[in-house]
Amino acid sequence: MQIVKTVAAMQSLAKKWQRAGVKIGFVPTMGYLHEGHLSLVREARKRVGKNGKVVVSIYVNPTQFAPTEDLSKYPRDLKRDLESCRAAGTDAVFTPTDKEMYSRWGESLSSPDSKKYLGSTESRPTTNYSTYVVEEKLSRAMEGASRPTHFRGVTTIVAKLFNIVLPDVAIFGQKDFQQAAIIKRMVADLNFPVKIIVAPTVRERDGLAMSSRNKYLVGDLRRQATVLWCAIQIARATVKKSKTFPAAKLKDAIKKLVECEPDAKLDYVEFFEPEILLPVSIVKSGTQMALAVFIGKTRLIDNVRI
Ligand code: AMP
Repeated sequence: MQIVKTVAAMQSLAKKWQRAGVKIGFVPTMGYLHEGHLSLVREARKRVGKNGKVVVSIYVNPTQFAPTEDLSKYPRDLKRDLESCRAAGTDAVFTPTDKEMYSRWGESLSSPDSKKYLGSTESRPTTNYSTYVVEEKLSRAMEGASRPTHFRGVTTIVAKLFNIVLPDVAIFGQKDFQQAAIIKRMVADLNFPVKIIVAPTVRERDGLAMSSRNKYLVGDLRRQATVLWCAIQIARATVKKSKTFPAAKLKDAIKKLVECEPDAKLDYVEFFEPEILLPVSIVKSGTQMALAVFIGKTRLIDNVRI
């Protein structure tokens, strides 16, 4: 397995593979890998076959974090991640630095001043990084409403990574349903020559969706976090019983259920059309449900098709 740290080296490796007619499968991640990530790596291998190449990127992208969010304490363990990637049959891991990704023209992102601007919509007057990719429809609701600069950071980094890794196919997790929808839209709108695959959410035995941020859930918080899965089960059971159900009433019931847990606070719960992400007033089979819940300071998200 190759470990690639620079944009130039990754691009030249990808171009070499491309010239040889080798298919490239790509899994972008922020590291601290778990079984959910590794399921995407296996899906990538399935898609490109044994003669293809699977690339995993491990990069905690600062532009998708707001200044108030957990960028500096986001969990990291590169050594363990590299071992997991190797065991899962990855051909190359791309692990660039912030400087490599965002300051090619000489600015350091580690200065306290630049941290203020990364991930914010305010542009830093002196920064030399100034090009962003912005999706303007699907990004507005849910995660986009709660985290206004988040998707701009996501689409920008994914577009950059596509230009660096040159994948034929890229795998994203259904766990981040809205993100996957936005990436698909970006790829269609900007004609990226890459096929996007969305793979199912991998869960713990008690239903909690696997996430790098689950590491923050210590003591009783881990138990309380199962309330997202309980909320999903209750929504499903309600709709199964009555076939259709008013979204507003179901949202109220879910808020009450979530906030029975002492450290849980509902950020949002939404019911919407899965293709266009537009909210529905009546929930029925086939409606998509998504929710975000703070468990203590940790913000967790989940979603399912009802
Ligand atoms: P992240 O490292 O959180 O940016 O996630 C990288 C990729 O892994 C994204 O496409 C996520 O949707 C996907 N992912 C994260 N958690 C899971 C999970 N539990 N099951 C499947 N895919 C996941």
